[in-house]
Amino acid sequence: MYSVFLPRYTIGIDAFDAFCEIPYHTCALYYGQHAWEASERKVLAALKSAGIRILDQGVYGHEATIENAEMIIASAGAQEADCLIALGGGKCIDTVKYAGCKMNKPVYTCASIASTCAAVTRISIMYHEDHSFREITQLKQPPEHCYIDTEIISEAPVKYLWAGIGDTMAKHVESAFSARGDELDFPSELGIKIGDLCFYGMLEYGAQAYEDATTHEVTPALEKAIQNIVISTGSVSVSVSSKYNSALAHALFYGLTVRPSIERDHLHGEVVSYGTLVQLMMDDQKEMLKQAYTFNKAIQLPVKLSDLDLDVNSDLSDILKTAEENQELEHVPYPVTADRIYKAMKQLEAYRIEEA
Ligand SMILES: [Zn+2]
Repeated sequence: MYSVFLPRYTIGIDAFDAFCEIPYHTCALYYGQHAWEASERKVLAALKSAGIRILDQGVYGHEATIENAEMIIASAGAQEADCLIALGGGKCIDTVKYAGCKMNKPVYTCASIASTCAAVTRISIMYHEDHSFREITQLKQPPEHCYIDTEIISEAPVKYLWAGIGDTMAKHVESAFSARGDELDFPSELGIKIGDLCFYGMLEYGAQAYEDATTHEVTPALEKAIQNIVISTGSVSVSVSSKYNSALAHALFYGLTVRPSIERDHLHGEVVSYGTLVQLMMDDQKEMLKQAYTFNKAIQLPVKLSDLDLDVNSDLSDILKTAEENQELEHVPYPVTADRIYKAMKQLEAYRIEEA
């Protein structure tokens, strides 16, 4: 027996008006500082008209740590509240989801930026207080419902959408690669199919969405891109077997993070989008490589290692070793070794699209 929890969500410039469908009367509300500044007025008005009282509220902290989740768990207001509401980016949402799972309370999410699918998934990616990775916690349930206010997202710094586009495109490239050759059960088949949208959808309207977000305009292209980032990616995540969730693009990201400059100067999805190209090169996916490379160039996502301020001819053995040993490469159609990764990185550096 198994259960699949596909995302439930509301999107629009008035998405918070759907708070009135929450079947509870009290909540505890936690947010990131920037998210709160951008949304306070709309959130408070919508909760008031939905008749939901706030028993506790505050900034969740600055990192998705178990310590921050424990502060929520210890709060008398949260203990008394019928449900928890998270408002922010992935780290805030993952912290509140973690707390909600431990407290057996339903969690509602409001995505204030479109950068990850945390608002709909059943996992929390937890870190240590020094910002190093700690664990991926499997939760009992995904959030009850996700609210996506497109006006708030369109006003957020465009770099989050930009990186989110990169991370989303990787989802298809990695999941289809990891699952290749396997006999798939239905949820995995479903998730891999939805994953097509993550790549081909972005090729179609990703650049337009990026441009619209730069001028803070809510347009059909932007709405589609936001749903691709949060909902398509999230649907893949909640459907496919966990062994198909990632592959080289993310393994190389974790490898690259051994250099502190990577997380200091670059965003997750930005670095992952470089790894997508490396994976496509290694796997000799000529057509997709050409499409992704052209797309990355068009919106200034990285196309070579020097775009991440590293030199492909320097000693990269620490990065390659960490990438090779990463758990995302445990289930792939053929061994992805440090040598293979490095060869693809070198080839990518020299890659040029031939003019027709
Ligand atoms: Zn990612």
